[in-house]
Amino acid sequence: MIKDFEYIRAKTVDEVLALLSQHGDNSKVIAGGQSLLVLMRQGLVAPQYLIDIKGISSLEYINLDKNKGLRIGALTTHRDIETSPFMRDGFGVLAEMEQTLAAVQTRNWGSIGGNLCHSDPAGDPAPVLIALNANLILTSPRGERIVPVEDFPTDYFETVLEHDEILTEIQVPNPPPHTGTAYTKFSKREGDTAIVSTAVSITLDGRKSTCADARIVLGAVASVPTKAKKAEKVLVGKEITDSLLEKAGQVASEECEPVSDIHASEEYRRELVKVLVRRIGREALERAGKA
Ligand SMILES: Cc1cc2nc3c(=O)[nH]c(=O)nc-3n(C[C@H](O)[C@H](O)[C@H](O)COP(=O)(O)OP(=O)(O)OC[C@H]3O[C@@H](n4cnc5c(N)ncnc54)[C@H](O)[C@@H]3O)c2cc1C
Repeated sequence: MIKDFEYIRAKTVDEVLALLSQHGDNSKVIAGGQSLLVLMRQGLVAPQYLIDIKGISSLEYINLDKNKGLRIGALTTHRDIETSPFMRDGFGVLAEMEQTLAAVQTRNWGSIGGNLCHSDPAGDPAPVLIALNANLILTSPRGERIVPVEDFPTDYFETVLEHDEILTEIQVPNPPPHTGTAYTKFSKREGDTAIVSTAVSITLDGRKSTCADARIVLGAVASVPTKAKKAEKVLVGKEITDSLLEKAGQVASEECEPVSDIHASEEYRRELVKVLVRRIGREALERAGKA
């Protein structure tokens, strides 16, 4: 049962920050409530003051700047990202990722910011945003700070957010030339959360023959999305072939540290990492060749 709380509907970011400062640990913001209400119903979170930010329209936008790249307001819904005309070229992978996230009802109401702040290690957006080298803008009464997405989650359902701070914007830079990014997740049913997810970004050199940079990000294998750094090194500086991708998958499956839980054993997750890195690496490579 949900414990009693005082509901406050905020109209501006300044108002949210003032309320968070005033009520301290007794307060929590709610956006779409798709994750928070589940935790409140389970009694795992019981804020005295619930600050509703869903109506702050200044945090709901998608902009594409020729030089700066993509800017997404924290309250933008999954569905708006999925259907945005800006999700093409190097950013198309974001729309593809959103299509795999939950059912359309959840995507219609849940926000990208809420997803990242909930910090579920099996969440879909974070691995893709890390592969795209994205940053987050966090806003508090002390001003703004920029945090790379890969440094944002600190543990299961924990982030670097201070109590009086909110996520306001996601910044995705333009991918370098000849870059391809792809994402996939393995789940029991379509729309379920991932048992293992993998995002791979590959940048080819000017002649499109050698791998200039590679980012391999694994979801649901640790308490936070994790880069497979040794597997990335397998690819960089080399001509990528099927056997090299297979080796990268093997190395990724050895360097990650998955846990066994009710959804899958450690061994099964390692096997999935091996297969998904190879499969999605090939897709990223093909895209890089066309970019
Ligand atoms: C049935 C179902 C299926 C789902 N399947 C998937 C799936 O397959 N993949 C996946 O990735 N996710 C999945 N989800 C999770 C879903 O994506 C998230 O619940 C949703 O995106 C959270 O956004 P929200 O706006 O509802 O956040 P809320 O639930 O309102 O908030 C979540 C947390 O973030 C905090 N918060 C929200 N916005 C901000 C902000 N701007 N700044 C600071 N803190 C903030 C809240 O205080 C809370 O702690 C599923 C959820 C449901 C209900």
